[in-house]
Amino acid sequence: MPDAMVAASLSEATSGGTTQQVDVAVVGAGFAGLYLLHRLRKAGLTTVVLEEADDVGGTWYWNRYPGARCDIQTIDYSYTFDPELESAWKWSEKYATQPEILRYFGFVADRYDLRRDIRFRTRITAATWDQALERWLLTTSEGATVACRYYIMATGCLSTPKPPEIDGVKDFKGEVYFTGRWPHEEVKLAAKRVAVIGTGSSGIQSIPLIAEQAEHLTVFQRTPNFALPAHNGPAPADRVALLEGDRAGYREQARWSLAGVPWPQQTAVSWQLSDAERRERLDEAWAKGDLVYILTQLWADQAVDVDGNTLLADLIREKIREIVKDPETAAALTPHDHPFGAKRPCLDTRYYATYNRPNVTLVNLRQEPIKSITASGIKTDERTFDVDVIVFATGFDAMTGAIMAVHPITGRGGKSLSDVWANGPQTYLGLTVAGFPNLFMITGPGSPSVLSNMAVSIEQHVDWVVDRLIAMREAGFTAIEATETAQAGWARHMADCATLTLHRLANTWYTGANVPGKAQGVMPYTGGVGPYRSICNEVASGGMLGFRLTGPNVAEQCNDGEIVRLQPDVRLVLNMLAEMKLPPLESFGAQGARDFLAEFNAARPAGRPVGEVVDGTLPGTDGPLPYRLYRPATPGPHPIVVYFHGGGWVLGDQESDDPFCRDMCRRTGMIFVSVGYRHAPDHRFPTAAEDGYAATRWIAEHAADLGGKPGPVMVAGWSAGANIAAVTCQLARDRGGPQISGQLLVCPVTDCTFDRPSYNDNATGYFLTRSLMYWFWDLYCSPADRTDPRVSPLRGKLEGLPQALVVTCEFDPLRDEGVAYAEALAAAGVPVEQVNARGHFHFSFTMVDVVITGVSGRVQMAEALRRFAGLPSERRQADEGVRPGQTASPHEIASAAE
Ligand code: NAP
Repeated sequence: MPDAMVAASLSEATSGGTTQQVDVAVVGAGFAGLYLLHRLRKAGLTTVVLEEADDVGGTWYWNRYPGARCDIQTIDYSYTFDPELESAWKWSEKYATQPEILRYFGFVADRYDLRRDIRFRTRITAATWDQALERWLLTTSEGATVACRYYIMATGCLSTPKPPEIDGVKDFKGEVYFTGRWPHEEVKLAAKRVAVIGTGSSGIQSIPLIAEQAEHLTVFQRTPNFALPAHNGPAPADRVALLEGDRAGYREQARWSLAGVPWPQQTAVSWQLSDAERRERLDEAWAKGDLVYILTQLWADQAVDVDGNTLLADLIREKIREIVKDPETAAALTPHDHPFGAKRPCLDTRYYATYNRPNVTLVNLRQEPIKSITASGIKTDERTFDVDVIVFATGFDAMTGAIMAVHPITGRGGKSLSDVWANGPQTYLGLTVAGFPNLFMITGPGSPSVLSNMAVSIEQHVDWVVDRLIAMREAGFTAIEATETAQAGWARHMADCATLTLHRLANTWYTGANVPGKAQGVMPYTGGVGPYRSICNEVASGGMLGFRLTGPNVAEQCNDGEIVRLQPDVRLVLNMLAEMKLPPLESFGAQGARDFLAEFNAARPAGRPVGEVVDGTLPGTDGPLPYRLYRPATPGPHPIVVYFHGGGWVLGDQESDDPFCRDMCRRTGMIFVSVGYRHAPDHRFPTAAEDGYAATRWIAEHAADLGGKPGPVMVAGWSAGANIAAVTCQLARDRGGPQISGQLLVCPVTDCTFDRPSYNDNATGYFLTRSLMYWFWDLYCSPADRTDPRVSPLRGKLEGLPQALVVTCEFDPLRDEGVAYAEALAAAGVPVEQVNARGHFHFSFTMVDVVITGVSGRVQMAEALRRFAGLPSERRQADEGVRPGQTASPHEIASAAE
């Protein structure tokens, strides 16, 4: 509806009351709101910003407590959209103080003359979508209502302070302050007895300064947090040189990094480093005083693996004990309930040392919870503390609070956002919500937001939204709305991403756990800033995938679908491979392909340590065959798994699936013997199959000599190796042994036809291509032999075979023949479990420590092998996540983690 008609209709509806009509209304004049206003104006869209405070600054306007500082280096926490602005402003410190940051926002507002379109001291009291007018109608606490085509929440993630949830706060006769709403006038704490409740970032920043002023400070701590020294001072020369040497390159690297700060991806894994090397790395990081550095740069597995994380957390715990003199206080300050980084760690200035001061007391609320606040102070289960001042550093209703709790938002068909989000926020890209047309959120739940440098994420969001509005205008569209399919797909992708990191293992404001009664689940996007940016770009370049676009004079456009169906790490691997623009593997020839594979494997993360690795040979039918034996560190004798590597009967050797064998050896507590069977084209069909059988027979006969349990062995394999494992089971049944108690077939080749749907759907773009498979078959097996069960086990007799686990991957050309084999085994009466790993590709499970989301599949494989061996289940809590065949919401993951 044109603006004039909207005006007439609104005038009627409001009985002539004033309504401000704009293209866009933005809530919040903080980091995001200011940049939005600047960009929207430049795009020629009329805009009003509504701001509750009486000046710009957002979170930095409200959080004025002593010690409030940025804890991303300020050179990284700045606008980057205008190089002239960058050179016009110089930060005075590595971590700027709140007053300096606030001055910066004032400077930006003045430089771009932003204030004239900001209505200060104005709260939105309700926002309602009017479908007939195609406008959001906003009622406000001050002045005219607003009618806007687009409504953008630039409300920040940590804007709504959480009530303290402690009885008696109103009875207290002394002074009460909230760090998130600190007064503008000076707060005098000298000669006063002060209590601080809360030891998150706000508490940890303010406690040292409050301790310096107060007569006595009592800190009430419920959960200790990890804090790292900021070592504030001038911006580090090396970082400044890097930035000034190539400003554009530096900023671009930040935009494509994982956390929004240009540090490279760490490649060394914790188990490759000695104790001394790990300690040295921690000492270096400790001296650097950089949160993102310590969160990402020590070793590659620190944020994704519980064991790798514990090594780091233990070193930090040592540091705390070194600083805090009283052992009991040190113990109380040392976190043990969450992995390092799973809860937001803090940067501090003399925080731990503050507890060595005689005027500071720590009260451990885990031992004596607060009962109530009284007229004179704070009463715990055991003691009463009389104080003059209480400072609540108790945090925020994060991520959703400012969007949902502050004012009712009513979308299409009278849908309330609070109802839609009752079980946790549902968004598409963290930017939009199905059922709420033309509503956008900047750094909303479902986007990297608080797990990133907010400056980078805000600019990316603002640019993406404004660019979309411009494109819509050019195409004649006036309304945009996410589809339910796209939103559900995003929830699935979020859940997949949540299994990548350890955030799911902590109860924090990231998961909503800090607010009683709030739905719980990992709210920020854990897949990283760069990957997220590429997804947003893909949505736009893919015809606005997952959005419905409408306009008065154009045909509706809806390119519906899910933007990411692959597991997040599989997507990264495939993108990386695509960028490498490799020639097809088969074009190298057999030896060239083997050399390429060896080089490729040399660059992967080293396999994890096991008890012992022994190389040997065993007698094959025509001479010795090499093998590599992986023995667990636990006392033997262990059950034995005979393993066959992948490589299309042409490539690989007994070492080529080394990380997988090590991982499975550790998970199962079993000996893995990886067999070096002979390869095509030198040794064609049925050599590999016969070698596999001969090796299994010999290993079973020599189990005790190898340190294994005498009795049945198990067989396992991946790809063509799984083909050999399956064939070995058939031969063992038909040739009178050896006894095999179970078969693990991972992405097996089971048949020689190439026409199943998965062959058509997944034969390009997922590395294992149709032409590569043709090449393998041609080198190994003549067409006349291909129906022989020794290469197409699906065509063999299946009755009487050992129990099986068949693992297939959704995006694998071999998926359907694996499924067919499992179904045929079941039909033949063989106990079989079949798992189809959603979002995975042919290489997912053997790319150990690269495809992190493959862990849950390997946990299932280990469980199956233990079952085959008659051993009890041995699941670790840290491995629990989403089973590969299933979907779980982030909320289910959080509760599983609990
Ligand atoms: P927070 O991290 O949520 O910490 C709140 C603290 O209050 C926690 O220690 C919490 O204990 C405690 N608490 C809450 N309710 C309590 C109760 N009823 N009784 C006793 N203790 C209670 O909040 P925050 O410190 O304000 O920080 C929030 C986030 O804001 C930070 O994580 C950070 O992302 C951001 N921030 C950034 C900066 C910066 O950049 N410089 C500064 C400040 C804040 P539990 O842990 O047991 O719940």
